[in-house]
Amino acid sequence: MDYYSRQITKLIEELSALPGVGRKSAQRLAFHIISMPEERVKALTDAMTGAKQNIRYCRECQTLTDDELCPICKSAARDHRQIMVVENTRDLAAYEKTGKYNGVYHVLHGAISPMLGIGPGDIRLKELVKRLEGDVDEVIIATNSSLEGETTAMYIAKLVKPTGIRVTRIASGVPVGGDLENIDEVTLLRALDGRTEL
Ligand code: ZN
Repeated sequence: MDYYSRQITKLIEELSALPGVGRKSAQRLAFHIISMPEERVKALTDAMTGAKQNIRYCRECQTLTDDELCPICKSAARDHRQIMVVENTRDLAAYEKTGKYNGVYHVLHGAISPMLGIGPGDIRLKELVKRLEGDVDEVIIATNSSLEGETTAMYIAKLVKPTGIRVTRIASGVPVGGDLENIDEVTLLRALDGRTEL
């Protein structure tokens, strides 16, 4: 039975389709939004459409950025011959927060998962292979230590090896199945320092 107006029901439906938002939270958010001043609601919807329409993938590393090249790829102070491969932009942010990594990144936007039907062609591997044609000394594979992350790491190692470029894997101080973004800086740096040759 419909207790609410159709508009409210629709809003609740849209909100509850978001990750981590259950039916109850969606209802609370919907009623909160309705009680907000109109200009605040507009600021919220503008931020959402603005982000969706204007954010793009960096031409080099594929991270989400406002410009053609992200600030990291643009920076002359970074070592462009060292590429750390991560699953997503949140993982990149986790390593950036340590302030101790001076190389550049490559963001895959996912990991290979035969179970979910995600193959090598579904993540940004082609773009990585193309970058290897340039001047690269080392590829550091920093995918998660989940089954998907390990599968992806092995796949990348096989791609990089024939080029003769050094390929390393961050140490498994990172808890199995753990997302890099949830791991503290000390553990991240230890994982980076303890990386091993593949
Ligand atoms: Zn970039």
